[in-house]
Amino acid sequence: MTGMLSEQVCLVTGASRGIGQAIALAFAREGGTVYGTATTGPGAAGIEKAFAEAGLDGYGRVLNVNDAGGITDLVKEITDRSGTPAILVNNAGIIRDNLMLRMRDDEWEDVVRTNMTSVFRVSRAVLRGMVRVRHGRIINISSVVGTTGNAGQANYAATKAGMIGFTKSLALEVAARGITVNAISPGFIETDMTAALNDEQRAAMMREIPLKRFGLPQDIAGAALFLASCTGNYITGQTLHVNGGLCRP
Ligand code: NAP
Repeated sequence: MTGMLSEQVCLVTGASRGIGQAIALAFAREGGTVYGTATTGPGAAGIEKAFAEAGLDGYGRVLNVNDAGGITDLVKEITDRSGTPAILVNNAGIIRDNLMLRMRDDEWEDVVRTNMTSVFRVSRAVLRGMVRVRHGRIINISSVVGTTGNAGQANYAATKAGMIGFTKSLALEVAARGITVNAISPGFIETDMTAALNDEQRAAMMREIPLKRFGLPQDIAGAALFLASCTGNYITGQTLHVNGGLCRP
């Protein structure tokens, strides 16, 4: 299939729903050979169903990003089957919100492990192949709260800010190898992650968004496609803010 990502092997973590699903579909629409991951077998099957319903080829795989061995195995499988991943989107993420005085160790550790340690591990797993072919794109899905902070999300905001430091550092390490590393910082996007907010919280958020609408997963997919394709060739170590004007760093 021809397109902006024709023949490129892509790995998108957390592609069963929300932002990851929109990115996986957008990449497949542009001709990428896309592997999307979910934490469960039914989730992985759902990814393949979403590709099929859109008339696209693509693969769903089970991956818990906290499983170091699972990451190695999946990258090996993709490489053996389709070739070295050229594009990685570190999208999988969770929230475990709580005020600091009430935050339990497991709420802190789950978020740090799932949102940040996984980014280190999955990136490392694909990097060797990218270095060998002297080409690659790594895109990390951060968050506006990594820049602004947010009461009740000290754990989550710390990981999202950490991703930005990681992005800048890795970008410097691998630039000479033809690999770019960037982050996208979404604002408020309509997904399962934000569905739990009540009407009052949504109205308060809306007042802060100059474009006067919440974002859609497709808005983030467009930014990811921009960075993943040749349009993003000369961009590295950057954070692209996609938030309707909510935060203007
Ligand atoms: P979502 O709808 O809650 O989906 C989360 C995805 O991550 C799912 O595919 C889920 O897989 C996967 N996932 C969760 N834990 C995982 C684990 N341990 N291993 C592997 N995959 C795991 O989230 P979303 O709103 O699309 O968010 C996607 C990314 O954007 C996250 O990093 C989030 O922090 C970031 N973000 C979101 C917003 C927003 O407003 N929605 C704003 C800023 C940043 P299962 O389906 O199998 O559970």
